[in-house]
Amino acid sequence: MFILTSDPGEKPLDSIPKLAESFPGHVDIPRLREGRLGGAFWTVWAPCYDIVGEDPGPDFNTPTSALRDSLEMLDLIQNMIKQHPDHLQFAHSSQQVKEAFAAGKIASLIGMEGTHLLGNSLSVLRVFAQLGVRYLTLTHTCHASFASSAGAGAPLAEVHPGNGLTDLGRELIGELNRLGIMVDLSHTSDATAKQAIALSKAPVVWTHSGSRALWDHPRNVPDDILRLIGDGPDKNNGVVQSVFYPPFIGPPDAANVSRVADHIEHIAGIVGKKHVGIASDFDGMYASVEGLEDASKYPNLVAELLARGWAEDELRDVMGGNLMRVMDAVDALKEQLVDELPSSAVWEKRTDLPATSWGGNKDSGAPSYFPLEVQSTIAELYPRHDEL
Ligand SMILES: [Zn+2]
Repeated sequence: MFILTSDPGEKPLDSIPKLAESFPGHVDIPRLREGRLGGAFWTVWAPCYDIVGEDPGPDFNTPTSALRDSLEMLDLIQNMIKQHPDHLQFAHSSQQVKEAFAAGKIASLIGMEGTHLLGNSLSVLRVFAQLGVRYLTLTHTCHASFASSAGAGAPLAEVHPGNGLTDLGRELIGELNRLGIMVDLSHTSDATAKQAIALSKAPVVWTHSGSRALWDHPRNVPDDILRLIGDGPDKNNGVVQSVFYPPFIGPPDAANVSRVADHIEHIAGIVGKKHVGIASDFDGMYASVEGLEDASKYPNLVAELLARGWAEDELRDVMGGNLMRVMDAVDALKEQLVDELPSSAVWEKRTDLPATSWGGNKDSGAPSYFPLEVQSTIAELYPRHDEL
């Protein structure tokens, strides 16, 4: 879910109070209440480079505004939760979700969609973990220095060998496991998804995807990848949460709540009912399916699944129990890894680290801010380096 200004010219934070009344798009507090939502992920996201007219260059090293924008989005989410204490309550663990629910509040978790937001840096990821981010989608619709994307429809040109994870992306999976952040595979290329499942020691999630067998779109999950998920020692104990975006659901005349239930049932037929969930992508899509037009309509999907014979306890799992099980497993692994040091990996195509010229290039004659003995140490490094 995303929060945007409700009027042209309005500053983003000034729009927060209006969420309690009515807000354009799919989400506001009255409709969340009408939809009987117990919890939601508020998503830190900023558009891919091409959409905002920026070019990070072939090595992703040209600075962009993505990191600033994502910090602003996180600030907006934090203030939104703070300014609506009667309705929203921050949550990070399944226990905190249950506490918010018991208090009659909508548990408000934070996700992050796309590694293009990370400035190519695992240090940035670690700080976002401290700020409460609970899942990270490995790409949005663009490739990033960490991973290859499925694109927005038409296939993207391959930029990383094998069209999957880079070396830094492989390190990223270990860091996500260590930090207790869920690995989200929606939007990723199939190779990225398969490699991430093989590497992750924790269950993975798809936060908003459908079934590719039912509707052939690269944003949906193919059966061969679904078969990697489920119960059993050789399967990942993850969850696939169904998206509501019409182009992923079916032909325009069949994009309705029943067809969303078809996706859930097809996926559950392969992975099991303990491994499916409900997403939405409300306010992250310009259209919605018939019967699930906005956040007030979730009960229609629950009624549809009940009518198809899903038991009440199965529905409780689908509506959040399964995802909370994944959160618990991710937290347990974090606890196990608590003594591990952070990854020291640096984006392999980055040219400014390890740093030897901060405060003045050795050839420019400009003053350096390094202490003199550090300058002389660096000066000695160059001839030694040249001798290699
Ligand atoms: Zn998305």
